[in-house]
Amino acid sequence: MKIILASPRGFCAGVHMAIDTVQELVDLIGPPLWVFHEIVHNKHVVDRFVQQGVTFVDSIDEVPNGQTVVFSAHGVSPAVRQRAEARNLRMIDATCPLVTKVHVEARRYAKQGCKILLVGHAGHDEVEGTFGEAPEAITIVESPEDVQATSFSVNDQLVYLTQTTLSIDDANVIIDAIKQKYPHCKAPPKEDICYATTNRQQAVRELAKSADLTLVVGSSNSSNSVRLTEISETDGTPAQLLDDKSELKDEWFESVETVLVTAGASAPDDLVQDIIDELVKRYSGEVEPSASLDEGMQFALPVTLRVMKHEMTQ
Ligand code: SF4
Repeated sequence: MKIILASPRGFCAGVHMAIDTVQELVDLIGPPLWVFHEIVHNKHVVDRFVQQGVTFVDSIDEVPNGQTVVFSAHGVSPAVRQRAEARNLRMIDATCPLVTKVHVEARRYAKQGCKILLVGHAGHDEVEGTFGEAPEAITIVESPEDVQATSFSVNDQLVYLTQTTLSIDDANVIIDAIKQKYPHCKAPPKEDICYATTNRQQAVRELAKSADLTLVVGSSNSSNSVRLTEISETDGTPAQLLDDKSELKDEWFESVETVLVTAGASAPDDLVQDIIDELVKRYSGEVEPSASLDEGMQFALPVTLRVMKHEMTQ
């Protein structure tokens, strides 16, 4: 069996920064340490931190007064920050700067009096955070039908923004519906779907047609990982999403001669390597070498963490 490795795959700059943030804090101050929401949407990343004593919470009220809390890569709403302030928590913000960019746009447009159509998945941590920047001005749209159900007038200043991890094709279908219904609706100044999402989707789109099966390493609540399976399937290649090698099933590989392996932006590379090793062992897989693409993106650790490190090493 031939194994094609997609490139780029796996960790993006935002995930690297968020994971490094929690690891640095564990090393610096140790537990107890709280993280609001999963730091990134990956079961293994979260489990590994839990084993180091980190506590993940879905409500700020679960963090004892005065303790340290990290905000996840997906960002938080101003209401969450206010709640944390009220509890006198030390806040370390590991929001990906590309998510922060969308928050800034939402705030700015709302201040200008615009109505905002936010293209994204309702209930996703990132969308909840962005929505919370200007709930009175934002309408979340998940489909062209949602767009049809809105009723803005030609006098409303309209702009659309998007979640960073959408399928580019799916987002375009919704954006087309917006443009058709509201030709006066403005686009964001720069694409909101991030470079990492775009590059990983592009690689799958190019390579899936040469494969009989696509394996996407990632968790089921990882938006960008799920999108990679959908892209492969849309192009006619069945896809399976799996957290690790223990989920590999022999029946997936019946009459599979070529398998494409990729990973969502929050999936650790050691899990990908374990799966490749297992494919080599079980099915005499041969890995086709692929050029690795340097995406040239790196994000600095949060300022509050850098200040804390500086103070503690003085
Ligand atoms: S997927 Fe994109 S927006 Fe999300 S953390 Fe990675 S770089 Fe940031």
